[in-house]
Amino acid sequence: MKYLLLRTLFSAAFGLVIGCCANTLEYRLRSELAVSDNSCYCPVCRHKLPLHDQIPVISYLLLRGRCRYCRAPISPRYPIVEASASMIYALAALITAESAIGAVLIGCGAVIVYLAASMAARRVKPSALKLTGVLLTLLGLQIPIAFGLFLLNVALLN
Ligand SMILES: [Zn+2]
Repeated sequence: MKYLLLRTLFSAAFGLVIGCCANTLEYRLRSELAVSDNSCYCPVCRHKLPLHDQIPVISYLLLRGRCRYCRAPISPRYPIVEASASMIYALAALITAESAIGAVLIGCGAVIVYLAASMAARRVKPSALKLTGVLLTLLGLQIPIAFGLFLLNVALLN
């Protein structure tokens, strides 16, 4: 209870990262791009985006929702998903104050639901192989997050 604020902030930050990854996965599946590609670029002018233009929510606000290079508008859906994932993780940390794994599982479930809803809305029918790839990627992301929360718990309890 003593470190609830720190845990919640930590979870909210992880939620931002997970929301950003969910956006990237959804965009790559929708655009038939390789899920494993690490480069991030503007879909309009193809300019590669530096790290400071990829900070969840903050970059969108600083750039006022437009590409730095071609000024093309960026959909507000991206920061909304990132902020939502952050809030879900923060809420999960508050609800499951004694269990970091519980918070991670709630966040993971929320992201999977988002991806499923997004694909259904766009009538995208990804192959079983791609869906398996998305699920494995999301679960893979949960492992370092769960480990980070576990280490935080250990550090806070001692
Ligand atoms: Zn651009």
